[in-house]
Amino acid sequence: MFAPDAETGQPAEETAGGLEGYNYAFLDEHTKREIRRKILKAVAIPGHQVPFGSREMPIARGWGTGGLQITLSLVGPDDVLKVIDQGDDLSVNAANIRRFVALVTGVRTTSDTAEATVIQTRHRIPEEPLRADQTLVLQVPLPEPLRLLEPSEERTRLMHAEADYTPMWLFLYENIVRYDEIMLAAGYPVRVNGRYMMSPSPIPRWDIPKLNMAENLFLFGAGREKRIYAVPPHTLVEPLGFDDYPFRPEDFQGLSCSICGSSGVFLEEVVDEKTGFRIHRCSDTSYCRKMSEVRP
Ligand SMILES: [Zn+2]
Repeated sequence: MFAPDAETGQPAEETAGGLEGYNYAFLDEHTKREIRRKILKAVAIPGHQVPFGSREMPIARGWGTGGLQITLSLVGPDDVLKVIDQGDDLSVNAANIRRFVALVTGVRTTSDTAEATVIQTRHRIPEEPLRADQTLVLQVPLPEPLRLLEPSEERTRLMHAEADYTPMWLFLYENIVRYDEIMLAAGYPVRVNGRYMMSPSPIPRWDIPKLNMAENLFLFGAGREKRIYAVPPHTLVEPLGFDDYPFRPEDFQGLSCSICGSSGVFLEEVVDEKTGFRIHRCSDTSYCRKMSEVRP
């Protein structure tokens, strides 16, 4: 229970379920409202980067402050939160963010994808298909897909306004000429709703098709770069490619997880501590646990 407000003597409702002395979900109400307005704008213009007044957070920029601000602006007392980093619920970054949001809101947390209503993530989209009542919040380091080709913000904004993506097509073409394939492992550029070019954040190519015509809402937050963008449900998301060099996700053909036996999932290669051999295992640890229970 929380101490009553010193001036009014009324129970401090804003902090109910949160941390005494702090507003519910840490951010003040005006900030949360501003972020929600920016999210609405981002949803209305799929793939378009909307500037927002990114706040100082009690974690360093570059550690997911953009995603965190979106999560804090959305999460209500009835939500169930899951936080993952590279598919893992237990990594330091994920554990810290989950603990912080739980502390300042009192919301229930989970590692089960199916149980969560809000999922904050870095570098992965969960293997289990998401539902319409779930929101995926992605932490984004570099929101501008054209930045590697054009350092000027003014120029890239103009390119987006004019839908002039020639330099990116040229870059992909040069990749093919030089390496006979497109050398982009993560952050592969996509076209959203036939209009804006968007960076899907550093997710593997494997996860890109999950953005297309999905049931759920995707929100992208870049704290340091002060940008929010979105892919609403049932939106066309196309990875760039050429007729003779189409987009190709990572190839895991013939491989399966050495823990749960799953194939057709994103696998990571690790060295088995006991045998010293290289083995593959699911990058989505909660999915792996679930599958291990199904197939003991
Ligand atoms: Zn597995």
